[in-house]
Amino acid sequence: MRQNLVAGNWKMNLTYQEGLALVEEIVRLNAAGTGPEVVVCPPFPFLAGVGEKLPQGGKLHLGAQNCHQKESGAFTGEVAAKMLASVGCEYVILGHSERRQYFGETDELLSQKLKAALAAGLKPIFCVGESLDTREADETFDFIGQQLAAGLFHLSNEEFAQVTVAYEPIWAIGTGRTATSAQAQEVHAFIREQIARAYDAQAALDTTILYGGSANAQNARELFSQPDVDGGLIGGASLKAADFTTIIQSF
Ligand code: PEP
Repeated sequence: MRQNLVAGNWKMNLTYQEGLALVEEIVRLNAAGTGPEVVVCPPFPFLAGVGEKLPQGGKLHLGAQNCHQKESGAFTGEVAAKMLASVGCEYVILGHSERRQYFGETDELLSQKLKAALAAGLKPIFCVGESLDTREADETFDFIGQQLAAGLFHLSNEEFAQVTVAYEPIWAIGTGRTATSAQAQEVHAFIREQIARAYDAQAALDTTILYGGSANAQNARELFSQPDVDGGLIGGASLKAADFTTIIQSF
């Protein structure tokens, strides 16, 4: 079911001790337990420890930033989806533009990762988003339509119901240049329309669609006020408990 959700992508930042301190502060500041669902996505080595700090059964959840497409085996240095589930992860980010760009992750590979995550009982947060060149060439909708069709829409209705989509324009990630709320809304509405075509109108209404790209404590309220923006995937601002909490409280 569609829900408001804020996910913090810590990327490759912090030490374990700093990560524990950050999550303790996030838990303390959000002790009221009201508001949206929240997912913290620390690096792999922090997952179990960070998960232990999250109150059971509440609105704070654990997520990973990636997983391998195979169930297990001789893949040195990789992490399988069921390993993530076994340390308490509920969510996994897949298709982040940094994975696509720096690690060559293709739509084909991502479609396999999605299957692996779902088979392990994880809820994927599937990222799509265009480069500045694509936007300036006026090809944003074609590009995102293609990413959705190739990476995501092979899932069955039941599988797709577990997925959160994140629209993350590459030109806005880590640049301080946020999409305007109108730019975000128009792409989110387009994504919802594509979901309705691929599945049905109810699936489109039920899908949570997050915005990501330099969202922060100052602009979150405006972004989240858009009818098709259900929350955010937050990078830099998720590393400061107070800012992250302000974003969480921006609905
Ligand atoms: C991200 O990497 O998912 C992201 C949105 O980063 P930032 O908020 O730092 O732009």
